[in-house]
Amino acid sequence: MQLTLWTYEGPPHVGAMRVATALRDVHYVLHAPQGDTYADLLFTMIERREQRPPVTYTTFQARDLGGDTAALFQTAAREAVRRFAPKALLVGASCTAELIQDDPGGLAQAMGLPVPVIPLELPSYQRKENWGAAETFYRVVRALARPLTPAERSPGPRCNILGPCALGFRHRDDLVEVRRLIEALGITVNLVAPERAGVDDLARIADADFNVVLYPEIAGTAAAWLQRSFGQPATRTVPIGHGATLDFIDELATLAGVDASAVRAETTSRARWYARSVDANYLHRKRVFIFGDATHAVAAARVAAHEMGFEVAGIGTYSREFAREVRAAAEAHGCEALITDDYLEVEARIAALQPDLVLGTQMERHIAKRLRVPCAVISAPVHVQDFPARYAPQMGMEGANVLFDTWVHPLMMGLEEHLIGMFREDHEFHPDAAPSHLGGGASPAPAAPAAPEAVSPVAPVATAAEAANTPHWGAEAERELRKVPFFVRPKARRNTELYARERGIATITLETLYDAKAHFAR
Ligand code: SF4
Repeated sequence: MQLTLWTYEGPPHVGAMRVATALRDVHYVLHAPQGDTYADLLFTMIERREQRPPVTYTTFQARDLGGDTAALFQTAAREAVRRFAPKALLVGASCTAELIQDDPGGLAQAMGLPVPVIPLELPSYQRKENWGAAETFYRVVRALARPLTPAERSPGPRCNILGPCALGFRHRDDLVEVRRLIEALGITVNLVAPERAGVDDLARIADADFNVVLYPEIAGTAAAWLQRSFGQPATRTVPIGHGATLDFIDELATLAGVDASAVRAETTSRARWYARSVDANYLHRKRVFIFGDATHAVAAARVAAHEMGFEVAGIGTYSREFAREVRAAAEAHGCEALITDDYLEVEARIAALQPDLVLGTQMERHIAKRLRVPCAVISAPVHVQDFPARYAPQMGMEGANVLFDTWVHPLMMGLEEHLIGMFREDHEFHPDAAPSHLGGGASPAPAAPAAPEAVSPVAPVATAAEAANTPHWGAEAERELRKVPFFVRPKARRNTELYARERGIATITLETLYDAKAHFAR
């Protein structure tokens, strides 16, 4: 086991909690030590759900370990059924409880409880949160779904939407977009699960012609079982981006046997036109590094390359179960895949690639901030900011608009690069000028050039080894560097120092600066 400060995914029982919280009429009895109740905060403080998760923890303490912890579990299960009257009971163990081997599934099944018991065996030391969510959803579907006779079936075309879940990245708003598209095609939504699906709804999951899988990390296992058991095919396209949304409409139409031409014709996004009309400086060949869960990372790479004109410099995922998909995407974009759940490796890759933009998780947002690279969040793990009050889907055409705004604006900074270049000798644009929108209090340009020792000679993100080896900046080169627009200046400094270091140049002159610029522009 590795002790870490940050982690992309929690243990698998957190995935189980996410599914239990999304469902209706179920309760989860979790054999867990006292401290585990912290997980409630993920739902109430980060996602801001109005109710705490439907979870009873056994909350055993160190002193209980010498006694009968199995009896503790059974008492908690009996009390949960009496108090919450669920229609199904999920039971399982957290990482620490797994070590005491009480077997919650066996214990609960032996109790003769008046509700179906769904035991969850989630190996905490081999698997993680998303796998735990997928396995839990699969177990729930498998336990509750029942075959229907032709007479019990409703008229089609009908589909289930699978994947939206508690603590999901923009799941709430994606669902609105996707449901609108499905219904515009004349397809009935039989059920959405796990989010807001009740036990009785899940019993009728077979009353659909096919499944729409929005988040394969959560719904892929259940969808594969539904295909095997009830012959329900599943969608493969995730509608993130303008092009993928059109492909998704076509896929839905094929599965449902309906004509998509009218819906296709009227479904469009502003993002497409904006990406074409915005100053190409901001998009064309900007190098972007992408990291997240596999679904969002692969989708982001497609949008970045084909809809924004970016160059995908690197792509990676922490979802080891989906490494193959991400490797295939990396190959298609001509870069190397990074499959890791170690944020330090991700940080090292970003520092090495020096991209113009990072599309990642909240972890990469912190990393990019430290490296002073613009960043937009595209994937879980989530933070409170990822549950905005406004409508902000990632999927469908409105999702494409949101992607454009959130990815391109960090690059624009509100100033046109070519104007800065044109006016950089103007007195208002000297390096010490205050922003004009803050009361026009621009201070006059310094009468004399700043002395070399008055400016920071060390690049802000240099490692200790690099700092020891940082070339000295000559006064003239330092003055020239200060004419570079403020938001690209750290990168220009880093690149020049890298160029000098690699060539053993001890003092950076004006010539070194221009040579480095020419080198990196190639
Ligand atoms: S049981 Fe697992 S999740 Fe809970 S406190 Fe211990 S290590 Fe953390």
